[in-house]
Amino acid sequence: MTNPTVQRAFAPDLLAGQVALITGGGTGIGRGISLALARHGADIALVSRKLANMEPTAEAIRGLGRSVLALEADVRDREAIDRAVGRALEELGRIDHLINNAAGNFLAPASELSENGWRAVVDIVLNGTFNVSQAIYPVLRDGGGGSIVNITTRYVATGAPFMAHSGAAKAGVLNLTRSLAVEWGGDGIRVNAVAPGLVADTEGARRLVETIDLVEDYRLQVPLGRLATADEVADAVLFLCSPAAAYITGVELAVDGGAALGGHFKAAAEKIKAFYEESKRSRAH
Ligand code: NAP
Repeated sequence: MTNPTVQRAFAPDLLAGQVALITGGGTGIGRGISLALARHGADIALVSRKLANMEPTAEAIRGLGRSVLALEADVRDREAIDRAVGRALEELGRIDHLINNAAGNFLAPASELSENGWRAVVDIVLNGTFNVSQAIYPVLRDGGGGSIVNITTRYVATGAPFMAHSGAAKAGVLNLTRSLAVEWGGDGIRVNAVAPGLVADTEGARRLVETIDLVEDYRLQVPLGRLATADEVADAVLFLCSPAAAYITGVELAVDGGAALGGHFKAAAEKIKAFYEESKRSRAH
């Protein structure tokens, strides 16, 4: 669902003449990001392992009148990534923005997590983010600068029971965000992160939580009282790519309805409010 207020908040030509490469850009949050950037004038290179996951989004981007490439590559495979970046540059003429959004995740107790399971998630999330960032760096530098936005997650701040592999990998991505922001700032490259809370309309979240009915438990921890949409995460990415964020680098922007503040405080706040209202009522009598 597209938020019409935000559509008016950003000029439709905000990213006109620019190109963004988005890993995992065909599905879920990545699709939301791809469409948001395309709606604001950017041409798009989608990168993921399966063409079928990118085609519907590529079609939608073409429908918006933007150029789009769907490039099959695994972020763990540095040579395949170099080829994808080379093709994007050749066919779209430039690259201004990289969104490291591709990830893998599953629920498993840390005590039983296989070596392969740990390695797969860390490889995709942390090594993949590094691979694509390093591959694109000379393109951004030689093009006079640009921006990188890494998609982290709310639980980087809190730890993630049954997702130790993903939490540890995403924490690595956050630190990488800060290191690269410092190292590449002199080249005019801004590096930021967006940390979504649970997003309602994604396959990834559905797989993780709907199967064991955690959505309501999660929602109760969110001060704003609802889950995020992929479009709301995409709008934060759009902002960080835009000239409005020209002096912002090395930050992690939470798009979590305040969930990182801690659900136990929300429950406590509701109890305190009830207690306060009750005391007021008794004082009035
Ligand atoms: P998703 O629907 O599971 O999509 C993941 C995407 O990454 C797919 O397009 C997939 O395409 C691609 N991908 C996976 N492994 C890849 C690899 N090795 N190489 C290249 N591409 C790969 O994910 P999502 O739920 O939208 O999440 C998107 C991002 O937001 C992730 O970084 C996730 O950690 C983060 N996040 C999500 C939530 C949430 O509630 N959904 C909350 C916080 C953070 P292929 O299969 O074609 O490769």
